Amino acid sequence: MEKVYFMDDRSQSNQTSLVAKMLTLFDAARFGDMIKPNDVVAVKLHMGEFNNTAYIRPVYVRALVDKIKSLGGDPMVVDTTTLPYFTYASRVTALDHLKTVARNGFTMASVGCPIVIADGFAGTDDVRIDLPEGFILKEQYIGAGIALADSMIMLSHFKGHPMGTYGGALKNMGVGCASKRGKLNLHLGGHPRYGLRARPYVPERCVGKNCPDFDICRQICSVGAIKVTEKRIQWDKEKCVGCLACLPLLAMCGVAMMADDYFDATSAAIADSALAAAKALGPKKIGYINLALDISPFCDCVTYSDRAIVPNLGVFASWDPVALDSACLQKATESSGMPGSVAMAKGVMDPGLPKFTACGSFMGISQEIQPNVGQKIGLGSREYELVDVPPMDNDVPFTFSRIPAGAKHSKLFAKKGDIYPPGGFKRADEVDLEDMR
Ligand code: SF4
Ligand code: SF4
Repeated sequence: MEKVYFMDDRSQSNQTSLVAKMLTLFDAARFGDMIKPNDVVAVKLHMGEFNNTAYIRPVYVRALVDKIKSLGGDPMVVDTTTLPYFTYASRVTALDHLKTVARNGFTMASVGCPIVIADGFAGTDDVRIDLPEGFILKEQYIGAGIALADSMIMLSHFKGHPMGTYGGALKNMGVGCASKRGKLNLHLGGHPRYGLRARPYVPERCVGKNCPDFDICRQICSVGAIKVTEKRIQWDKEKCVGCLACLPLLAMCGVAMMADDYFDATSAAIADSALAAAKALGPKKIGYINLALDISPFCDCVTYSDRAIVPNLGVFASWDPVALDSACLQKATESSGMPGSVAMAKGVMDPGLPKFTACGSFMGISQEIQPNVGQKIGLGSREYELVDVPPMDNDVPFTFSRIPAGAKHSKLFAKKGDIYPPGGFKRADEVDLEDMR
């Protein structure tokens, strides 16, 4: 049975800072064992869409990067280009992606190593992985910068996800490591049964030039599958590669919805794609950390972050992404929902109720599909042993420096000497505080 190392989210000292807890779990799981001197070590994370606010803060990444350097590794922070999931998506090219993550606080200066968009400038720099054991995908394409790394820390924000129902290690790996063509594959572009080509299509609902989104709709398709005349849309479904760009527009006006089981099949494909990334790196070459904090109902790839649906659950680490996500899902199920959140609106506030099936998905898709498929295809196990890890003792310096701050001041003040004004500060001798209470 795989071990999942766990620390809760309470913090009352240096040693119990959430950053310290993440590093404590890194050591408890012995992730350092896979890092040899000069190894290129990818730190994979989602750095957030434009104006999202729930993504993992850069400080966690910097701490991991410093840890990897201390072990002799050569770290790089990686992510990949996205599909145009909605009209103004901000990470569809490497150029856009780097601009977005810099705005979100991720630069070489902040994280302490290069940030690499691992599938290249246009999202086509990838490595093909054969996947005969896949549940639905029989091949997958992984960003070359990830597939060619020596090892990887999968640093994942555990939260909801509109397509996968929840997002954790499997989603960060399955979607986040796939190149753009890999994302087309896992989102079932061109699939005859589940893909967008199979979606119900009702062109009569299009009002053509009278539509306020007429101009956007005319520009939305990168492969020329959509034409909008003055009167009506024409969709050439044989040309459609399933990039999802038109999905929100056409769903809103009722011209095209999703094929039956699209989201269920995509959830399954996410786990397949995660297996492809694991195969690309090889056995015992990926350590997985989930930060179950700021557990918003939707993913960090939307342009907003709603109130968390459950309180922070804590920090989790494992060598097994299926076990890791299963442990996080179980903790979320055991938790009460957050007052005033979507959990309340959906009636899943009580402990014991699955939260993500109701809150994370557009369509009430089961939160169990990703880990169930992950187990079925041999990526990991849903059985796990949860190991409560105590904080490090005070000999481990989770401090800024080992030089006491006062010692630095005394050196400065000895030279400058005027921090305390001669005769003291001008202040009232006594005031009536009672009135202010
Ligand atoms: S398909 Fe829909 S969004 Fe596009 S022009 Fe017609 S009504 Fe507008
Ligand atoms: S028609 Fe197909 S390829 Fe064109 S924007 Fe829509 S999903 Fe993408």
